[in-house]
Amino acid sequence: MPISIYLHIPFCKRLCPYCHFYRVPEIPDWSLYLGAVIRELDTLEKEPAWETIHTFYVGGGTPTLLPPEFYRSLFEAIGDRFDLTTLTEATIETDGGVSHEELAEYAQAGFDRVSVGVKSFDPGIREILGAGELLEPDPVDSARSAGFSSVGLDLVYAIEGQSMGDLVGDLERTVDLDPDHISLYMLEEAKTGGPAESDPDLAAAMFRESVRVLGAAGYRQYEITNFARPGRDSLHNTVYWEDGDFIGLGPSAHSSITLDGVRVRWRNRPDIEAYLKDPASCREELSREGATDRAREALILGLRMTKGVHRPSFGRRYGSDPMEFLKPHLGELMELGLIRFSASHVRLTVRGMLLSNEVFVRILE
Ligand code: SF4
Repeated sequence: MPISIYLHIPFCKRLCPYCHFYRVPEIPDWSLYLGAVIRELDTLEKEPAWETIHTFYVGGGTPTLLPPEFYRSLFEAIGDRFDLTTLTEATIETDGGVSHEELAEYAQAGFDRVSVGVKSFDPGIREILGAGELLEPDPVDSARSAGFSSVGLDLVYAIEGQSMGDLVGDLERTVDLDPDHISLYMLEEAKTGGPAESDPDLAAAMFRESVRVLGAAGYRQYEITNFARPGRDSLHNTVYWEDGDFIGLGPSAHSSITLDGVRVRWRNRPDIEAYLKDPASCREELSREGATDRAREALILGLRMTKGVHRPSFGRRYGSDPMEFLKPHLGELMELGLIRFSASHVRLTVRGMLLSNEVFVRILE
């Protein structure tokens, strides 16, 4: 089975207080970071099944703070170690602070998909979020004509001070630009300051309205926070939700690989200094999961998808029916209207998606 690779680029010009990703404000010489990533690639024990790559995703941080040369060299290094002919999707994230010409260079380096962290088109909301300048007023058209075959836009909502009308305006502007994919992230307030979350009832109403507006415009919600035109789901993120194998490179990145039926998870310590010196020293094993723990985890991931979990396939893969994990809490979850199930599937309801953690903590009990 081909493997997926994630690379974390932890550099940002500013550190937004509500951001939960590992990021640092200093940008080292890109060749130093490239050298560290290549050293990490070389420390991976190569399993025969890892010789081919399914998807590649570069996230952050702000990946486009590193120049296209970094990515040209990186693709070359990956191509020397893996077979890239099976690569189905190569995504780079950007904050929108790149020009059309720069986007064209990233596409030429080897990416076919770009995810633009617009956050909001509304100047007032952008100010609240501390978002930088959007260099291209139409990032979708700019990215497509630069050579990307798939363009996603990421929005943030449920921010104190944002009205339902503001959000609908943002969604309509987004739909007008006709991206292939839309991610909608509800703001998670930071304890350390920054913008506050909106009232929970308004946030819930905003979620429902977003599903309605995007659905009416032809975007299928395929995961709690993700919507796509038919056939444009993120293949890389689907690997996570379908409990596939992936390797994460860079500080803070997580990996998850199945070896002889045991799921091994590890992460790289979020420490850029240590990573630049010796990437292998940052690796920390998180768990080795046998059948029951794997099944539990896979059920939580699978329930994030609107198609839900197919009970017979889950049973064949993990040796147990997903309902076994839900049975002790079934009455309560049904009464709260959080899940629905049939002989073939179990799924979250729309309310269940809003309160997904309520379901997930019970699966873990
Ligand atoms: S620019 Fe993006 S990745 Fe960087 S701190 Fe802000 S939200 Fe996080």
